[in-house]
Amino acid sequence: MMNKFEFDISEIGENGLHIKSEQAPTFLSDISNSLHSVENIKFDSNLCIDANIYKDHKQIVLNGSLSLQYVSPCSRCLTDVKLQINPDLNLILVPNNEDEFEFENDTVVSSYSGHTIDITDYLAEMVSVSFPVKILCNQDCKGLCLTCGVDLNEDSCACKENWISPDFAVLKNYKN
Ligand SMILES: [Zn+2]
Ligand SMILES: [Zn+2]
Repeated sequence: MMNKFEFDISEIGENGLHIKSEQAPTFLSDISNSLHSVENIKFDSNLCIDANIYKDHKQIVLNGSLSLQYVSPCSRCLTDVKLQINPDLNLILVPNNEDEFEFENDTVVSSYSGHTIDITDYLAEMVSVSFPVKILCNQDCKGLCLTCGVDLNEDSCACKENWISPDFAVLKNYKN
């Protein structure tokens, strides 16, 4: 088991280096806890990376894609939804010691020092920014009844018929 995605600069030959890798996303478990936009994400596949890396003078350029399946509850009805993220990877690494990520359109500029290139943090970042803000099982999901909890996609309830809008309730009190 490997928890890091890294390679040595010397592996990048004249024709570049092709990485095709599939690994358990164990190194992502920290992100899934800190994701504030989407909660309760469970990873459901290996993390697959397919990328080409080449040298451009002193810069290292990486282009490719990543894919990962996950399960997360629908934000309206709480049914588990199976989804996949599939972001493009565009990374440029410049040689220095500053450990920074800069987003320039869809390319991330970061840095490296020494001979080992570690793209673990970059991959974690790309996974993190790729999750949708809101997960729905279906655009038309009716969600759960806020009163009785029935799944309105599968069932109906009488709550709505007895439902009084808060505005109307105020009006009623006022009249009385
Ligand atoms: Zn739903
Ligand atoms: Zn109800």
